Amino acid sequence: MTIVTRFAPSPTGKLHLGHAFSAIRSHDRARGDGGSFLLRIEDIDGTRSRPDHVAGIVQDLQWLGLEWDGDVLFQSSRLDRYAAALERLKAMGLLYPCICTRADIAASGSAPHGPSGAIYPGTCRGAAVDESGAAWRIDMAAAVARCGLLDWTDELAGVQRADPLAHGDVVLARKDAPASYHLAVTVDDAFQGVTHVVRGRDLFDATHVHRLLQCLLDLPMPIYRHHALLTDADGRRLAKRDGAPTLTSLREQGVDGRRLADDLRAGRLPIGFGVPNA
Ligand code: GLU
Repeated sequence: MTIVTRFAPSPTGKLHLGHAFSAIRSHDRARGDGGSFLLRIEDIDGTRSRPDHVAGIVQDLQWLGLEWDGDVLFQSSRLDRYAAALERLKAMGLLYPCICTRADIAASGSAPHGPSGAIYPGTCRGAAVDESGAAWRIDMAAAVARCGLLDWTDELAGVQRADPLAHGDVVLARKDAPASYHLAVTVDDAFQGVTHVVRGRDLFDATHVHRLLQCLLDLPMPIYRHHALLTDADGRRLAKRDGAPTLTSLREQGVDGRRLADDLRAGRLPIGFGVPNA
């Protein structure tokens, strides 16, 4: 089997060292086996995605010495495909319109927290709701009943039993975002023939939802590899809001990107970072 991996950043900000680490992991997983490495720009969040960030991402990857195969895939060019997937799920009777705001959900008080945040209490499920301007949620219990028990494999953590119910009725489309991350990523990994999804451990739980969507939409199941996250010296995950240096700033300071990539591969990290072990 020819391995196909991808790096799929959202151009809502500049990349930092954690992104570099993830891109290297994905690139090397493919190249180490003579496979292909793809670049997908996840720019469906029209209000937050910016073209200048896309240009920066391309420059950052080139600076790190990471080459991708073929054309860059932009999710903004694939809205019709997400709409088709959504229609299919609607026709199966698995989606319902929802007009609850985040504030409504928070105000409902009882909302327990799942891996995707507050679990939706189901207020709109079965209710007569005006579809115009509504979001579409998946009736997770109905979807799980249809697919039964599903497993997926993580190369590092082993076989996992999918647990999509822990996420509750997640949103698959909103008026201002025609597909959620969950829907777009699942449709596109299949479309691009991705065999190995290499990404950070922060997205581990999301895979339970992706596995279910693969079943519902008859899509193939890739193998997953959720790598440990690069942390700061205190073991906290890197985040731009905490001042993690951007790759652009390192590039502009004259840091050698290829050498930095080799250092990250070897676990030699700039002072102030923790070494992940997977
Ligand atoms: N676009 C997502 C992000 O930037 C990553 C998607 C994925 O790797 O599945 O966090």
